[in-house]
Amino acid sequence: MGHEALLEICELFYSIQGESSYAGYPCFFIRFAGCNLRCTYCDTRYAYEGEHKTYSISQILAELKKYPGVLVEITGGEPLLQKGVYPLFEQLLSAGRSVLLETNGSLSLESIPKDVVKIMDVKCPSSAMHDRMDFDNFGFLDPKDEIKCVMSSREDYNWATQLINSYDLHKKTTVTFSPVIGSLPPEKLAAWILEDRLPVRLRLQLHTILWADKTKGY
Ligand code: SF4
Repeated sequence: MGHEALLEICELFYSIQGESSYAGYPCFFIRFAGCNLRCTYCDTRYAYEGEHKTYSISQILAELKKYPGVLVEITGGEPLLQKGVYPLFEQLLSAGRSVLLETNGSLSLESIPKDVVKIMDVKCPSSAMHDRMDFDNFGFLDPKDEIKCVMSSREDYNWATQLINSYDLHKKTTVTFSPVIGSLPPEKLAAWILEDRLPVRLRLQLHTILWADKTKGY
């Protein structure tokens, strides 16, 4: 145990996966503390501003045992800031879990085990973090992975569309477009996607429909 990696964790919780191709499945979430970005619309500030706890991997696995067989999502904040995430991936996969990683797109995906489903955010201009994206990461994605573009405006939509087309991203992996709730009406985004015949998936955040009043732990 002496050399076991310790992880700074914001929260561990069991809920419904809300925003990927796995949306709707029960899922155990491991939310890492800390983030290297500061998106204008961030709804998870508590992951880098609030209290957090230190867990060993064995402690996390012990908690996960209460939920046999369920999907696991590693999210944040930004999980890849902590080296201990790599032995965690290995141990979760060895335990036979399906593992999703949600990452903000600014750090390299090169060393992520191939069986982990990578959900890579692409930050659009209204986040003010679009110039922090590491586009080399597109080379580490395969068809089971996903690119998630969250957008607040027509300018974001145009920017993301141009990016998708210039890298042919929809041919490499699933691309989703999600509106920032309160900034871009989903029906507007749906109309643009149809009008432009874009091969992307419209994604709405399931947890904002299910638990509109909650701000964390969903
Ligand atoms: S990457 Fe995620 S957690 Fe970090 S600031 Fe942006 S939205 Fe918030």
